Amino acid sequence: MIKTADATICLIIGDPVFHSLSPLMHNSAYRELGIDDRLVYTAARVEPANLEDAIKGIKALNIKGVSVTVPHKEKVMKYLDEIDETAKTIKAVNTIVNKNGRLIGSNTDWTGAIEALNNSLSTDKLRNKKTAVLGAGGAARAIIYGLKRENAYVKIFNRTIEKAEVLAEEFGVTSGKLSDLKKESKNFDIIVNTTSLGMGKLKNSSPIAKEYVQRKHIVFDIVYNPIKTRLLKDAESVGAQVIHGSEMLLYQGVAQFQMFTGLKAPVDTMRDVLYSYLRENE
Ligand code: NAP
Repeated sequence: MIKTADATICLIIGDPVFHSLSPLMHNSAYRELGIDDRLVYTAARVEPANLEDAIKGIKALNIKGVSVTVPHKEKVMKYLDEIDETAKTIKAVNTIVNKNGRLIGSNTDWTGAIEALNNSLSTDKLRNKKTAVLGAGGAARAIIYGLKRENAYVKIFNRTIEKAEVLAEEFGVTSGKLSDLKKESKNFDIIVNTTSLGMGKLKNSSPIAKEYVQRKHIVFDIVYNPIKTRLLKDAESVGAQVIHGSEMLLYQGVAQFQMFTGLKAPVDTMRDVLYSYLRENE
């Protein structure tokens, strides 16, 4: 707990932001490492009209690190002093580091997804793995970037085919309609769901019917609440290997922790608090 006024502040901005689990993960990591008497991580709801002022405030208040969530990941870019090459390619920033008054934007969503996948794969990792990415929104962009970087083969499947086509052209991959996945699923090693199907009001929905998921598949659903989505339950029931979206959330936070503090993150502690919270609040 902060005891003196000599504290470093990190925070997350978004609108809404009340649901964010980043304060929980970062503060528990500070406690674990015994640095919670000088570092605190909090959250601020920033309405879109106030984004520019909020970014100026990072410098004025000497805030060390900022996580950025929906709807600011793209719009925030024009207010920063520098964007790293990865975030430029992904066209989204989820991390801002204040380096002696210069605000530098980067993206750890792709790292989170790739770390989650690689931890679940055996030695040959993602190289040449045939991967079906379901969805063509912001999260899909970061994941496709990461998969291409790891030399995986990628095909995007999306409800709105035009969006899949644009993204496929940009990243040099192929695309198809989400409804075509059932014919093609047998051709893939890995299925990654980046659509919103499986969360909130769509909690009972899945992007692919159970009969098209096979035992040989690795199924990664980036929806993290509930921990076990309908898609993951179906995949488990046919004996497929599953990866929870909370692993991506964890590892994007781990990467941010390291950028904000310069220290190695206590991954197990961060994972424990994340899963406990999700289990209690499903
Ligand atoms: P987004 O940019 O709004 O994209 C949403 C995607 O879902 C689009 O491809 C959209 O298809 C598709 N979709 C929405 N409703 C659908 C439906 N009823 N049927 C079929 N497809 C539907 O959102 P995002 O930022 O990429 O986030 C997507 C999901 O990933 C969210 O659930 C979010 O919570 C999760 N996420 C998780 C992490 C993590 O760390 N685990 C990180 C980021 C995001 P159309 O193009 O046809 O509209």
